Amino acid sequence: MGIIIKKFGGTSVGTIERIQGVAALVKRYRDQHPEDQIVVVVSAMAGETNRLIELAKSSVAKPPPRELDVLLATGEQVSISLTAMALMDIGIQARSMDAQQARISTDQHHTNAQILDIDTSTLRESLDRGEIPVVAGFQGVDAVGNITTLGRGGSDITAVALGAALSCKACYIYTDVEGVYSTDPRVCKEAKLLERVSHEEMLELASLGAKVLHPRSVYFAMRYQVPLVVLSTFKPGPGTWIVKEEELMEKPVVTGITHRMDEAKITISKLPGGVASLNRLFSLLAEKNVFIDMITQASAPDGAGNLSFTIHEEASDQTLDLVADFARSEGAEGAYLDRNIAKVSVVGAGMRYHSGVAANFFAALASEDIEVQMISTSEIKISVVIPRKYCEMAVRTLHEAFIEFKPVLETEK
Ligand code: ASP
Ligand code: MG
Repeated sequence: MGIIIKKFGGTSVGTIERIQGVAALVKRYRDQHPEDQIVVVVSAMAGETNRLIELAKSSVAKPPPRELDVLLATGEQVSISLTAMALMDIGIQARSMDAQQARISTDQHHTNAQILDIDTSTLRESLDRGEIPVVAGFQGVDAVGNITTLGRGGSDITAVALGAALSCKACYIYTDVEGVYSTDPRVCKEAKLLERVSHEEMLELASLGAKVLHPRSVYFAMRYQVPLVVLSTFKPGPGTWIVKEEELMEKPVVTGITHRMDEAKITISKLPGGVASLNRLFSLLAEKNVFIDMITQASAPDGAGNLSFTIHEEASDQTLDLVADFARSEGAEGAYLDRNIAKVSVVGAGMRYHSGVAANFFAALASEDIEVQMISTSEIKISVVIPRKYCEMAVRTLHEAFIEFKPVLETEK
């Protein structure tokens, strides 16, 4: 006996037939586990959120965020009603609920709101009547009743936050892939489905480019201990469980390899002024809401070294203008933008316990002569920025070095 959350992504509810498939899947679960209470969360039908964004952009150059949220939230409103209808059609009591009805409160940050609280009273009443509530993902309501949205891919966050608020037994995230893979199967055909991944690993993988779960949903799962599994709507299988690190059977040195190609690099050459000028630069960028990812600095004997940092590619032209003005005012040599970069990362909880990971990592890249431009590490990951044209080659080489052929590493703490 317990509460189960089942969240279905856009492709899972992409057509009427698929929505009927989702209803059948939910019914099968209910028949097998009559003691459980089920809450369904759905995304908008595949492509719908993009379509709505394009619609807004074709109407005005800069859609006001509040109105954009009103528009975007309609996508999920369509799919909750259709899913509830499909369930009722096969004899299951169901009830669609938008964010207001499900009482999902957020802050006022339109298009990227954070969930603050969920009042579960209406949901519990519905469950107690024997219904399956079908809740709209991705949307919320702020303190004065405005509709907000949680950022692209935010239905995952709704599902896990509901799971936390209802102390669910498990939260199932149904998608169009079988779970979390060791790397992108489209890039490397040796990619393997992972049985278990720790929260920390998943947080890294999700922020570094594995698109299967929203990073904030992983954060919620970790913080509120929501048992979380990612699995396919279309192909029955165990999926990938996201678990506490202690629950990993073995801690592979490297669990997964990710890549992303949506970042750009800005370099300021010969920037004088030391830490005071860094302070001025990054304060300026923060003021303009520029999100910085990696930073590297090469200092020079005369104190005027080169500084590089990466940003989201979409923001790169605007940021370059800003940085070029800054560089001029500081007496630097110049500022340059490079869009032809990719970030490739290896992630693994076992890195904490092994040395030699960096050695193997750079040996693999060196074997293919891949130029490394920037490096950053944490306890459980190594990321590099490389020229974009080498991205897929780097992923395959690293996958071969760390996953297909498990390296024997020097030290075990
Ligand atoms: N429909 C929203 C999007 O496309 C939210 C989601 O699918 O998770 O981003
Ligand atoms: Mg998604």
